[in-house]
Amino acid sequence: MMDHHTGKLYWPLTMTHVEKYPVLSGKEKVQVAIIGGGMSGICCGLVLARSGISACVIEREQVAGASTSANTGLLQFSNDVMLSELAGQIGRKDAVRFYQACVHAVEQLAIVAASLPGGTAFRRQRSLYYASSEQDLPKLRAEYDMLHSNGFAVDWWGPDDIASRFPFRKPGAIVTSGDADVNPFHFVQSMARAGAAEGLLIREHTDIVSHTATNTGIHRLESADGSSIEAEHVIYAVGYEPEELRGQLVKASINRSFAGVTRVQQSLSPWHQQMMIWETARPYLYMRTTIDGRIVIGGLDEENPNPVQGENARHKRIRQLSEQLSNLFPMLDSELEYEWSAAFGESRDNLPFIGRDPSQTNVYYCLGYGGNGTVYSMMAAHMLRDLIRGESHPLEEIVGLTRPTLANV
Ligand SMILES: Cc1cc2nc3c(=O)[nH]c(=O)nc-3n(C[C@H](O)[C@H](O)[C@H](O)COP(=O)(O)OP(=O)(O)OC[C@H]3O[C@@H](n4cnc5c(N)ncnc54)[C@H](O)[C@@H]3O)c2cc1C
Repeated sequence: MMDHHTGKLYWPLTMTHVEKYPVLSGKEKVQVAIIGGGMSGICCGLVLARSGISACVIEREQVAGASTSANTGLLQFSNDVMLSELAGQIGRKDAVRFYQACVHAVEQLAIVAASLPGGTAFRRQRSLYYASSEQDLPKLRAEYDMLHSNGFAVDWWGPDDIASRFPFRKPGAIVTSGDADVNPFHFVQSMARAGAAEGLLIREHTDIVSHTATNTGIHRLESADGSSIEAEHVIYAVGYEPEELRGQLVKASINRSFAGVTRVQQSLSPWHQQMMIWETARPYLYMRTTIDGRIVIGGLDEENPNPVQGENARHKRIRQLSEQLSNLFPMLDSELEYEWSAAFGESRDNLPFIGRDPSQTNVYYCLGYGGNGTVYSMMAAHMLRDLIRGESHPLEEIVGLTRPTLANV
């Protein structure tokens, strides 16, 4: 079992009451068993319950306690891989189709958020994606041209447009509309609660240690304490725990990332429309505001799967985030009240792993690796729902586990 995060997280402290769910006990039967109760598993569970499919989410620890609680909650259709780069990788038609699916998934997240009786802190936002250097400008401009010519909601801002709205100047920026931000922990807790009220079974503190399939096609999952559940279909929504993935299927790198949250600001007026901000440098710096007037900032990804343990070592790195915030917004309070380091999974071709297990009937993966994990989770929930219903899905050849691009990485 991996360490998902270290340090002091912000989102779990925003909720005064967190619902608890029972452990799996005895022998249960459902149509779909979902292993993992993070953003991915709960999205799938809610969508399935709302589609009249009986499902059970089984979580080793607590709902939303792993990567989901370290997530910084930016929901964007633009990806870690630019549309223009993705076109080079999988062809223009499929790249545009994938980006359109991301736009659609943000819309679906908005619809789900609006349907939940609990809080989510979901807000529609625009994003400023700026060129970190003059050198990156032609690439960013080409990306704007490609997004614009394919009908995505984007504007181009030059240095004066940026400097007239923010206390910094950059060589150029794409402004995307149709994005959003959210409190990911609260969102998943509210989805879980709504799902449970609508028939979704949720079992916490249940570690699935064995998965067997009978010759009648029924899957049997067994927990560490000997309880079991039978299902016609199984979804693996296990996050960044590659050992659960039976080796060869997933070509991923597990790295670590850092994030921090400031104290409540006296005023966010220097921050135009509280837009989300990110950049072309890799690894990239990104930031957003919260509903209670704080700033969330993240970045500094490192090639190491283990979150930094020592407080001093973590603080030293995260201080760089605070300094970068101060460089951009010298008039704001850049002191961080919360800071954490967390594991972060990326695929080698920059696309999530969503689809059928090629070697086992009725087994599926829902792994939203990459900076847009939440968008991918919602995309996956609808896609897997369709596959479980016996329908095909146009995205399967792009994000499925046997996609041709994986053979080349
Ligand atoms: C610092 C940081 C910032 C991020 N920022 C963003 C962002 O701004 N926007 C965005 O969209 N994404 C972001 N992400 C990515 C996002 O966090 C993830 O994509 C998403 O939360 C993953 O959800 P998940 O459900 O796949 O994984 P997890 O939340 O890790 O859930 C997987 C669950 O599976 C359970 N599990 C595993 N094995 C078993 C088993 N055998 N039995 C039972 N349960 C099991 C685990 O206990 C865990 O709770 C960020 C990630 C990090 C680390």
